[in-house]
Amino acid sequence: MPWIPRGMRNGIVTTRYPRHPDGYGPGFRGSVAVARDVADDVNLEPATQACPTGAIKVLEGRPDLDRGRCILCGRCTELYPQVFRFQSDFETSVIARRALVVPPDNEDRESLERARQELGGRVKSLRRSVHIRHVDAGSDGSEEWEIAALLSPVYDVQRLGVFFTASPKHADLLLVTGAGSAGMLGPLRETYDVMPVPKVVIAVGADAISGGLIGEGYATRGGIGRTLPVDVHVPGSPPSPFGILHGILVAVGLLPPADGGRSGRDAPDAGRTGNGPVIPNVRHHEAAP
Ligand code: SF4
Repeated sequence: MPWIPRGMRNGIVTTRYPRHPDGYGPGFRGSVAVARDVADDVNLEPATQACPTGAIKVLEGRPDLDRGRCILCGRCTELYPQVFRFQSDFETSVIARRALVVPPDNEDRESLERARQELGGRVKSLRRSVHIRHVDAGSDGSEEWEIAALLSPVYDVQRLGVFFTASPKHADLLLVTGAGSAGMLGPLRETYDVMPVPKVVIAVGADAISGGLIGEGYATRGGIGRTLPVDVHVPGSPPSPFGILHGILVAVGLLPPADGGRSGRDAPDAGRTGNGPVIPNVRHHEAAP
């Protein structure tokens, strides 16, 4: 039984996130950061043409990158390393779809805060534990591997009171992957309709947010946003298990979204009841840059 000495040698492998910081190494492709100061003589058009998902736009010489479309292919970072670079963050989930566009638009701050407060008020009754129904709406299968990893001994989401359920009638959160294939839109909507209130929808991955590499066509709807009201967007292709876990904790109001501000339950109008969080002793992190 070689696993006994191996287990004793390895000790406890289960992460202590979010009570303690954790994450991936420096080479991990978490998201693409965009430099704000771009010299006037730099022509970024080749980057927009090289991006396979149309995630990059150049307005008046200034690049905007939509993380909801980015599949982390690395073409832009190879072409313009001085403008685009990978960073190893994973706390990249946001509430409002437009918050995935970087650099952020400061004029949106008030409406982003309102969205946070609305979600925080809605989920205040989700105490002690949450149950998740996952629906594959046309995924390539990569997100499913990462979601399955959440149940492994390393991430062990059940330690946080997070459980997966087969029945949407028992579910608080709806975790959706895939580009929104035409054949799955009806079952997806039916799943959402029979969930009890409050129900929260999390779009996992660039496919679910925007259609990703497939985009919109005769067989897909370019994501699930036109079929369901999405509450939390988890970018990535696929997002990492830590990234998905961050999205779940943002959805129940226990961690702030990547665009900053407070967690939903800490928002002033969130109707905090003083009954304590779903997950005890959650450490609130600084928002990802
Ligand atoms: S890394 Fe993202 S933004 Fe850059 S080219 Fe690839 S898909 Fe486009």
